Amino acid sequence: MEKIIDLHIHSRFSGGTSKRINIFNIALNSKIKGLDIVGTGDCLHPSWFEELKSELEEFDNGIYYHPKIPEIKFILQTEIELIWKIRGEFKRVHFIILIPNFQVLNEVYQFLSTHGTLKEDGRPKIYLSVENFILEIKKIDSLIEIIPAHIFTPYFGILGAHCNFKSFKEALGEGRKHIYAVESGLSADPTLIRNLSELDDLTIISNSDAHSVNFHRLGREATKIDISNNLNYQKIINSIRFNKIIKTYEFKPSGGKYYYDGHRGERHENGIDYFCSPRRNNIDCPYCGKKLTKGVLFRIYELKDQEAAVNADRFQYIIPLLQLIATVNRSSEYNKKNLEMYRTIMENNQGEYNVWEGSSNFDGIPSKIIDAINKIRDGKYYYIPGHDNFYGSLCFEHVE
Ligand SMILES: [Zn+2]
Ligand SMILES: [Zn+2]
Repeated sequence: MEKIIDLHIHSRFSGGTSKRINIFNIALNSKIKGLDIVGTGDCLHPSWFEELKSELEEFDNGIYYHPKIPEIKFILQTEIELIWKIRGEFKRVHFIILIPNFQVLNEVYQFLSTHGTLKEDGRPKIYLSVENFILEIKKIDSLIEIIPAHIFTPYFGILGAHCNFKSFKEALGEGRKHIYAVESGLSADPTLIRNLSELDDLTIISNSDAHSVNFHRLGREATKIDISNNLNYQKIINSIRFNKIIKTYEFKPSGGKYYYDGHRGERHENGIDYFCSPRRNNIDCPYCGKKLTKGVLFRIYELKDQEAAVNADRFQYIIPLLQLIATVNRSSEYNKKNLEMYRTIMENNQGEYNVWEGSSNFDGIPSKIIDAINKIRDGKYYYIPGHDNFYGSLCFEHVE
């Protein structure tokens, strides 16, 4: 049984998220998009927790659903920020946590509430070292899954420029043995991640980290897994732990917000944007003279210790189809006509991933949109690289 999963999303209680997010809307839009299993997001936040408890029903061990949209299955998920100090320097790292049921969620809540405030933000700040955090959480229940989020992003990735750890092992200490997977994040992909031999044994998963339920955010990266017969929490965890991943759906890294080094224009009085490929000799910004925000590629080059061959069947580049439609039509993802066109394609092809897999029922869709879809499928596109919290801009290769 193949399932498409997105295990990193947020509720309306996380900073910078859409107020429209509720559990019904997540289920509804996930179904239209073609996802099968999604994280609840923010499950440690008391108000969101209450909403989940009152609106979701249990399908099987650790799998929940909204009664109006039973096709979409949920697992309890949150992202947290760990903050701790090493030799006078603060480290801040994001982790995804998957939790087997509401009972265990209560125990995790009780433990973490003594190390941070869970009521303020859907993604709580927890003042614990990563090593202590992992070892203590694993004492609560070994089925809790802890996954370093967007591992190379500069501010909160465990291998990002700001944490500046020399290795994954140095960062995690004794906690390393409990880590089975890493999240690629939008600005990295398996071909980059596999340049680090110490990550060889880890499963790579992709998630959206969506801060809204809009179709160009939800499921924009996702993972296809293989689950035998009955679906339950442990089977999903096992598919991650034993790498039963069929493939990940990935952004081209240059489309993510932190691929190159740079400064976005709004940092400068003249508004000029500056970006460059990794500068190992630390050249400062030509406009403001301050240190550039180091991108993902910078850290990969710093930490790289092998030339790895990655099986091309294990990942696939996609872009959010609604974004593609908006780009071709030179209008926004919130434009009504674009949304109608998107929904027509979804209905005719049972979701977006089928379109990227080759399903082609494009009745009534303008040929310029179909041409653009084919260019994405054939890889005939690139991005002006993303940098400093600024997405890459999509460009098409010109073909004769
Ligand atoms: Zn994060
Ligand atoms: Zn600058």
